[in-house]
Amino acid sequence: MVDCCSAPGLLPFELAMEKMLSAIKPISDTELISLSQGLNRVLASDISSPLNVPPHNNSAMDGYAFKVESLRTNNKLKMVGRSMAGEPFSGVCKLGECIRIMTGAKLPSCCDTVEMQENCQANDENITFLESREFNDNIRFAGEDIAINQDVFSQGKKLSAIDIGVLASLGVPKVEVFRKITVAVLATGDELKPPGATLSEGDIFESNGHALIAMLTKLNVDVINFGIIGDDEEAIRTAFEQADLQADVVISSGGVSVGEADYTKLILEQLGEIGFWKIAMKPGKPFAFGKLPNSYFFGLPGNPVSALVTAHQLAVPALLKLQNAQPKKFPLLKVKTATQLNKRPGRMDFQRAILSTNEQGEMTVTSTGSQGSGILTSMSTANCYIILPASQGKVPAGEIVDVQLFDEVIQ
Ligand code: AMP
Ligand code: MG
Repeated sequence: MVDCCSAPGLLPFELAMEKMLSAIKPISDTELISLSQGLNRVLASDISSPLNVPPHNNSAMDGYAFKVESLRTNNKLKMVGRSMAGEPFSGVCKLGECIRIMTGAKLPSCCDTVEMQENCQANDENITFLESREFNDNIRFAGEDIAINQDVFSQGKKLSAIDIGVLASLGVPKVEVFRKITVAVLATGDELKPPGATLSEGDIFESNGHALIAMLTKLNVDVINFGIIGDDEEAIRTAFEQADLQADVVISSGGVSVGEADYTKLILEQLGEIGFWKIAMKPGKPFAFGKLPNSYFFGLPGNPVSALVTAHQLAVPALLKLQNAQPKKFPLLKVKTATQLNKRPGRMDFQRAILSTNEQGEMTVTSTGSQGSGILTSMSTANCYIILPASQGKVPAGEIVDVQLFDEVIQ
């Protein structure tokens, strides 16, 4: 299946994604961890609530609790006790009486309504109510957030900071999660030097591995950094063999196009079953995916923008699947482009852009300018992609385009 407008031999982006995801079998090992370690881990079991949250009817205000009937005949009630958070009232509050109550404190069964203190005048035990109240005003009800036995999260939920709070509110001390996956990262190229080294003529600083490791950290995987591997057949073979033994996934950058010094392709072909694809996407045409004896392999292009866009758009969904995480939904926004967008039909473009609001309060999107695959700053100033379908040509300013906001993995 090649779409009408792809250049011959190019694999449409959606098909590449489909092929890759269908080859990935999620891990099955699980472990029990404490809730405090749960951020960004993936739940291995469904969670239903063991209790009502909140567990009892309680006051939404600092004020006075009473039976609403008491106020029908008289706006003065006698205070007979108090209910504090964690220190409930244990006496009886009869008609004509009220109790002092604080926010979150348990509402005794003898009261049904709360008035806030700002609407009351207190003279020792005699409280005057300045306004009328309806039955059940200012009360938070047991189970109004989560009811007992209600399904809260299902397997595959990647726990966010808020999810950790929800689980804590259920009193859950431990969660069963899928084990962390391990990803080995290596950068290939004789010209690459680590930041801090001195560059010789023709050298550049290695950046792909650094950005990738930062992205992987956001995905909460264990990273093994193999650093820079020179364009040397034996060094590359040893690195891939070692990486395959130690990790669930091996990600390399560089050497997947067909340059003279690109041994990567040759060696990978000997070690595993790897597809060297030319994907109809820009940036990022050359991309490799497949299986080494013990791990999955992603071969990213060397050019920094291509490496990071393919990592974000293709490798991240694959890693999420391997982690058992429910697929991420990337909502597309329809936004007017403020600038003309240069494009030739044939490949799907992921142009880097800035989404903002103009003086009229309308959302607009502006290209970051040159879209060269070596211009990494175009990605750091951007906050979104403009996604243009393969068949699309040049887009004039003022047209509506599809915009995908950058997510937390690359920001
Ligand atoms: P390659 O795919 O190995 O031919 O590399 C394509 C371009 O990307 C070359 O200009 C490389 O110098 C550059 N490149 C490759 N790997 C990296 C890296 N890890 N960091 C920065 N630039 C890289
Ligand atoms: Mg290279």
